[in-house]
Amino acid sequence: MADRNHETIESGAPDPMPYMHPVMAKNYGKWVFHSHPKPGVLYHRAESGDEVWTVKAGTQRQMDHYTVRKLADLADQFADGYVRFTTRSNIEYMVTDQGKVEPLIKALSDSGFPVGGTANSVSMIAHTQGWLHCDIPGTDASGVVKALMDELYEEFVKCEMPNRVKLSTSCCEINCGGQADIAIVVQHTKPPKINHDLVANVCERPSVVARCPVAAIRPALVNGKPSLEVDEKKCICCGACVPPCPPMQINDPEHSKIAIWVGGKNSNARSRPTFHKLVASGLPNNAPRWPEVGAVVKNILATYKADGRPWERMTDWIDRIGWPAFFEKTGLPFTKYHIDNWRGGRSTLNASAHIRF
Ligand code: SF4
Ligand code: SF4
Repeated sequence: MADRNHETIESGAPDPMPYMHPVMAKNYGKWVFHSHPKPGVLYHRAESGDEVWTVKAGTQRQMDHYTVRKLADLADQFADGYVRFTTRSNIEYMVTDQGKVEPLIKALSDSGFPVGGTANSVSMIAHTQGWLHCDIPGTDASGVVKALMDELYEEFVKCEMPNRVKLSTSCCEINCGGQADIAIVVQHTKPPKINHDLVANVCERPSVVARCPVAAIRPALVNGKPSLEVDEKKCICCGACVPPCPPMQINDPEHSKIAIWVGGKNSNARSRPTFHKLVASGLPNNAPRWPEVGAVVKNILATYKADGRPWERMTDWIDRIGWPAFFEKTGLPFTKYHIDNWRGGRSTLNASAHIRF
């Protein structure tokens, strides 16, 4: 899109056609058949008879330029120089010569990129930016992904789950996290601590007051300086005040925990989209390998794998067996924290004109 001076406006989704493999561009909207020959490989045939094999591999997402060059060299060698990345940081190579499929799989595997993540496997984990790029994370995101996918490697390269499994991690509770069959989300358990010496210099106080979804922040004079105060009875520990006002720090090595939510799905296939629900909370934010989080995720996956019927997504499985059975079968404790009975919710979250983050 260009403005009146014909300069490119660098926002919005770019036109995908110039980046698309020529065979895919040529047959756009004219595909007649697709199949899944093996884990990590999809096959598509067009009306014209053209064929494309898509080979999917997992990456670590945060890549040095040597890794990017390696992946690009493989694209030049096997896929006419075209690749695409999925939202879950998988890389996909489109191959038009069947004879190149197995050599590409071997080259990827030899270079340390596992091939898989298609159909009823556990795909790579969609994750937010974490410590590398963002100013408010309560935990890392790519680190959790690396630690967890090391343990779920076999489920990525095989297709042994009842249906596809999408995982996500979010390093704060409010912004760019996603819906997933299993979502790993930071959970703050205490209101922010305010550094009153910095507020007047760093924060635009009206913006911070407006930002709170439950109107818990008020302007205040502290030691003769303009600052802010938090009504801790109202605060839901969401962390929305940290980005506009870093002196309202909510991240805490002890009190910022990790929660696991299950049963979210965006697709309309077979059943309607659903929101995920909390099943485990207060897990330690234990970098660099997060073993307690890994144990809960693996437990849920193993239970679903053993008990789910073919093509049941996690939400469908839970729907069939019911939540009491989910907690019984996984052995996860059901606590008072699973019941949303926050009394302020009726008059604020659901009825105020505040923008919710
Ligand atoms: S989830 Fe939150 S902390 Fe993580 S990258 Fe997004 S905005 Fe930043
Ligand atoms: S924005 Fe969130 S964390 Fe900050 S005071 Fe309001 S409810 Fe508490």
